[in-house]
Amino acid sequence: MLSIENAVQTLKEKNIRLTPQRHELINILSKGNKHWTVEELYQLLNESMPSVSITTVYNNINLFCELGLVKEIQFGEALSKYEWKKEDHYHIVCSECGEMVDVWYPALKEVEVFAQSISKFDISSHNLQFYGTCSNCEQK
Ligand SMILES: [Zn+2]
Ligand SMILES: [Zn+2]
Repeated sequence: MLSIENAVQTLKEKNIRLTPQRHELINILSKGNKHWTVEELYQLLNESMPSVSITTVYNNINLFCELGLVKEIQFGEALSKYEWKKEDHYHIVCSECGEMVDVWYPALKEVEVFAQSISKFDISSHNLQFYGTCSNCEQK
C-alpha cells in the first residue's frame, strides 16, 4: 500500500503545493480500507477545516486520481467512490446502502492474460463488480 511519505513525495516531484487540506485528505484517505464518496470526505474534512468547500475536495480528489494516489471506483448511475491506491482488487457493492468491500482474487491477472490470448488486444485493465446486500441491510 502507498505510504503517506510516498504520496507527499509525489506532490513534491510534480511541484504541487502540500496545502493543509491536501495533507488532511491524504491522512484520511490513507487510513484503513474505506471507500469514500466526495460528500463523505467533505463532511469529515469539514470537522477540522470548516472553511473548505466541497469543490476544493472534489478538485483535490481528481488531482490525486491523476497522480495515481487515489483510485476512482464507479458504481450505480454516475456515482463514484474513492480509495487509497493499493494492489488491484475487486469490489462487492451493497445495492441498498452502497457499502463496498474489497475482494482479492489470486488469479486476477490471469483473466487479463486470457483475454489477451483470445484477442488481438493489448489488455491494460478490466472491471468486475459484485452486487448484493450487506449484513447490515439484510438485518433490516
Ligand atoms: Zn448495505
Ligand atoms: Zn477497494
